This record gives sequence, structure tokens and C-alpha cells, in this order.
Amino acid sequence: MPFLRSALLAASVGLASLSPGVQAADDVLNLYTARHYQTDEALYTNFTKKTGIRINRIEGKEDELLERIRNEGASSPADVFITVDASRLAKADELGVFAAVDSPQLNRRVPANLHTATWFAFSTRARVIIYNKLDVDKGQIQTYEGLANPALKGKVCVRSGSHPYNLSLGAALIQHLGADKTEAWARGLVANFARAPKGGDTDQIKAVGAGECGVALVNTYYLARLLNSTKTSEVELMEKVGVVWPNQNSFGTHINVSGGGMLKHAPNKKAAQQFLEYLASDEAQVYFADGNNEWPVVAGIKVHNPALEALGAFKADALPVGKLAETAVEAQKIFDRAGFR
Ligand code: FE
Repeated sequence: MPFLRSALLAASVGLASLSPGVQAADDVLNLYTARHYQTDEALYTNFTKKTGIRINRIEGKEDELLERIRNEGASSPADVFITVDASRLAKADELGVFAAVDSPQLNRRVPANLHTATWFAFSTRARVIIYNKLDVDKGQIQTYEGLANPALKGKVCVRSGSHPYNLSLGAALIQHLGADKTEAWARGLVANFARAPKGGDTDQIKAVGAGECGVALVNTYYLARLLNSTKTSEVELMEKVGVVWPNQNSFGTHINVSGGGMLKHAPNKKAAQQFLEYLASDEAQVYFADGNNEWPVVAGIKVHNPALEALGAFKADALPVGKLAETAVEAQKIFDRAGFR
């Protein structure tokens, strides 16, 4: 064994010195990611298989990673930063951590409303209304606005108002309805709460199934995960839960994204761009859908996900996701004033 190891070491050192024109750095990509989905592993493995570029992955919470990138400054080894939620991506952009990426491939494949000059969405998720079929008439909950209707008093459940998923929805509502109407909506929503916000989206789905809540706001990939489950308890849970695509007759259902960008001080810029382009490739796009129940951003990708198929097609809000950050701070202030904590 010791011999084998030293022979391998010698071989790899030899390879590196054999190709002086090729920067060793091009064979590695330092990825800082706040996505925490198990299935993403396959994405990274495949990229390495295709390109020979090894991925060093640092996982963490988005704020910690951003802080780290900023502290590391010009000597940061980070090449690409990936996270979920459009407002978080925009915040990173505002902090000036991203580099502009001029990739014809990315510009062609990622729709204009799902990228900026510096970051790209690679998958989308919708924030939908779910309801307990025995408790609530779905005619009452065809819009986000409808959740503030006093008829739903004591029935609404949702996670914390300071969570990015809700802030991004609030940010979109401000842009569609204006700040005053959004504040009135937030107050009505709070007045209808079945309980103080707690838990994640999956907890809201379970509470709706259990009848503790009549309606809730949740992201689609949490629903799809349960819809694809074969566990009896989860199959029975989902039989009680109905799903509504809100605002189909107006601005469409709010969508959010996961995405990322190349960092300004990336030491491996070529690899970084290759990786971003890979995430928009047909192969990677399928992973987002089949592996993590998100929708591909690239048009025409064949998805093999029974839950996504069962959820069907819907009209998505066409608001450029890069614009959500413009009203995210205002959304937080409105939610605070309305007592949506
Ligand atoms: Fe999530």
C-alpha cells in the first residue's frame, strides 16, 4: 500500500509538471454552496466525470458563506456561489461578490427573467396555496389576496414572515399590488392565523393534512417530495391535501429560484463558467427536476417526475426574479408592522 500510494503521488506530480502550459488550477473548482439537497451530489460527480474538473465543496448557510467570501476578499478561493432564493442572490450581488459572466450559452438557455448579468437561476419552484379538502372550499383561495379574506379566520398557517420564501412573495406582491394593499393583505393574513408561524413548509403541509390548519403557503418541491412518497402515512396525508395555483387570472403564481454566479475573485474563472454552463445543460437540468422536484429553467427539458407531472402546468409570474430584491426590504418592514413574524 505505501508503495502504491507513493507511486500514485509521483504519477500525479509528474502529470502536473508535464503540462506547464495548463494551469493546475483549471482542474479544480471551489464551490461555496448553500443548497443542501442530497441529490445535488450527482450533479457534482457528473460534472467531474465530463470535464475532469474536481469540485472542492464548502457547504454552509448562505449568510455564513457570504460573510466568508467577503472576509476572504481578493484571496478568496471561492469560484462559484450557489444558493436558493432570488432575494439572497440579489443581496450577494449587491455586496459586489459576483463577476459579470458573458456566456452566449447561458444567455441563450436561461430565460431573460431568470437571470441578471451576474447570476443565473438553474431551477424554479412555485409558492402555492394548499388546503384541507374537508375543511376549505378551494373557490375561496384562488389568489394570494384571498388568504386575507375574513372567511378564513383561524385557518391560515405559514412559516415565519422573515423567511426569504415569504419575503420574496411579499416583494412580488408589492410590485403587483402596491405597498398599501400588500400591508393590508399581511394584516388580514395575520388576523387569519390558526397559530403563530412555526416550522418549515413540510410542517405546514402536515398540519393541513392533520386539520390543524385549513390552508397554508408552501413551496412546490416540498409537496412533490411527499406526493412521490410511497410511505403509507405520507400517501394518506397527501390524499387530504389539495393544491391551488394562485392568481391564474391575474399576475400568475409566484416563483422563486435556486441559482448562482461566478465570484469576482474566482481563481478558476474558466472552470467556474464551465460549471455554470453545465448547470444549464440538458443533463443537469433533468437532475433538478427528477432529483429535487424543481422545474428546469431551460425550455423543452424532458422531466420524469410523477409528482411534477401530477401538479401539471400553470401560469407563473413573469416578474424578473432579479427585481424581487428591490422590494424585499420593504416587504420585511411591512410584515414586521403587520405582526407577521
Ligand atoms: Fe426550501
